[in-house]
Amino acid sequence: IGVLGGMSNQATAEYYRLLNAETNRRLGGWEIAETVIVGVNFGNIEHFVRNNSWTEAGEYLAAKALATQHAGADFLICVSNTMHRVAPRFTRDLQIPFIHIADPTGIAMRDAGVRRVGLLGTRPVMEAAFLKDYYSTKFGIEIMVPDKGEQTEVDRIIFNELVRGQLLDKSRATYVDVCERLHARGAEGIVLGCTEIFLLLGQDDLPDIPLFDTTSLHVKAAVEFAHAKA
Ligand code: GLU
Repeated sequence: IGVLGGMSNQATAEYYRLLNAETNRRLGGWEIAETVIVGVNFGNIEHFVRNNSWTEAGEYLAAKALATQHAGADFLICVSNTMHRVAPRFTRDLQIPFIHIADPTGIAMRDAGVRRVGLLGTRPVMEAAFLKDYYSTKFGIEIMVPDKGEQTEVDRIIFNELVRGQLLDKSRATYVDVCERLHARGAEGIVLGCTEIFLLLGQDDLPDIPLFDTTSLHVKAAVEFAHAKA
């Protein structure tokens, strides 16, 4: 399993832990996943995101994706929803398959029968069209986002706290409020569209609103794919 990681290191550590746990759950014994993890510098990613430098981001990640392939990965996953914005660029020269993070999430929502969901993530995830359109075009799911002020706060908590491993009760309460408002506006579920959010917010915090966690759904899809190939 090839992992384009470092976005953030917190998410990457969780992917590694969960990929191995899911593999061991399937295979038992002492089995864990064979992985190639290429960790990028999150400082560069933060700079690209803040400056809307998507061309540079695509070039940077394309080199790292190729390094993953050269190191022997049979397929690739990328641990950041945000960086899927440049997935067409960084997968362009790859010979190995790529599992897009929105595919397992879209399938899970379709299976659950939800048609309209709220999306939480970084500012580009909530603002730009790349994920919203992916979910609507491929899965027929309508995406709602928090209002502008809430988006700023959701994004701030990701960059100032979650990617640094800080989990604050106050921020959990903010996320709960944002989800409840989306629910009141008609969202039937919420996509945790940033791979660190599940560390802060879980289904127990919102028992009445189905949460779709991109990290765990992506990990399960990757292990299933690896298993089918083995
Ligand atoms: N892990 C993140 C995501 O899923 C946010 C960090 C980033 O900007 O890449 O979008």
